[in-house]
Amino acid sequence: MKDESTPGVAIRLNQVTKTYGSGNAVVTAVKSTTLDIFNNEFFTLLGPSGCGKTTLLRLIGGFEYPTAGTILLGGEDIASVPPFQRPINTVFQNYALFPHMTVAQNIGFGLRMLKRPRHEIAARVDEMLKLVRLENLSDRRTSQISGGQQQRVALARALASEPKVLLLDESLSALDYKLRKEMQMELKSLQAATGITFIFVTHDQEEALTMSDRVAVLSSGEIMQVGTPHEVYIKPANHFVANFVGETNFLQGRGLNSDDRGAVIDVRGVGAVAIATKDRVAPGQLVNIVVRPEHLRILPLAQEPAGQLTGSVKAVSFCGAETQYTVELSRGAAVVTVRRYNTPEENLPIAIGDEVSVNFTPNSAQILPA
Ligand code: ATP
Repeated sequence: MKDESTPGVAIRLNQVTKTYGSGNAVVTAVKSTTLDIFNNEFFTLLGPSGCGKTTLLRLIGGFEYPTAGTILLGGEDIASVPPFQRPINTVFQNYALFPHMTVAQNIGFGLRMLKRPRHEIAARVDEMLKLVRLENLSDRRTSQISGGQQQRVALARALASEPKVLLLDESLSALDYKLRKEMQMELKSLQAATGITFIFVTHDQEEALTMSDRVAVLSSGEIMQVGTPHEVYIKPANHFVANFVGETNFLQGRGLNSDDRGAVIDVRGVGAVAIATKDRVAPGQLVNIVVRPEHLRILPLAQEPAGQLTGSVKAVSFCGAETQYTVELSRGAAVVTVRRYNTPEENLPIAIGDEVSVNFTPNSAQILPA
């Protein structure tokens, strides 16, 4: 059945559920998931181990069949299309290369299976070798090249048949840190150069934020939030997202009053704190104030009249570009992390044991239901 109403949508998941096992041993890996992934998008499925990322990818690839719901590709239900006939390729975590074949033979493998003419395969393999910058290694066996080079061969092989969608399952996790950073940029530019929709799976939030046009954050088989990296970082939809994506401070409190511009929250152990928000907070409602470490200001208490929060410094870590302070707020309010950029001008005279004032502006914090 063709769904003409959604041009631009590459993959549509409609109320997709996947359960494994039966009776008491039933596991719901994906729960009633509805999601649109657009053409030419770098889309990431992000979440902790066991949240259902790989299952979602396998459902799209056709390696698993949904227990309920439909998956549309370019508006067509692909339920009856077997994996190898879908215009969707996968780069697996272990690359799954053929060690006895050369780089060029690996890249041309899918095209040979599709029985494309020889000259077309040769031309396409050359094009792919250039794309992933492996022209010099075309005759080398894949057992005799480095991890990063194997990664590029796997990518070239998956891209050779010009799929509409490329699935990448934790594809960078086997690489060391530096190579991983390099490959992140390469993957991003390959996606832009080919215009193919990439669906990337990772448990690494930093990787997801760096590479993606949009991210879906998953927990226990459910999508918690879909948005641009900026949206999920700056406006996390709930406690899970705030905690999983980036580092966050939580302050517990109760609503005092609110209007169109903001709310005043009675923070435990601190007192009244103003937060800019359009959401109404009922008097007495239990809430969490969410504020990122880099949005907190810190000054020695001696230099500054007491601000919103005061506390004593428990740890100071110099991390090059920034310094991180761990502060135990007064009256057991919370332990918060403050991160400040190190600049030639700012060298805060703050040491362990010092009493400090910690502040944030009403705009830099967010309120989430407790
Ligand atoms: P990871 O990052 O560890 O690979 P994931 O987010 O990709 O995890 P999935 O592999 O999709 O998670 O698994 C989701 C849930 O489904 C888990 O609870 C897992 O144990 C379960 N599961 C996955 N495959 C099967 C299977 N074949 N049979 C039974 N349960 C399964």
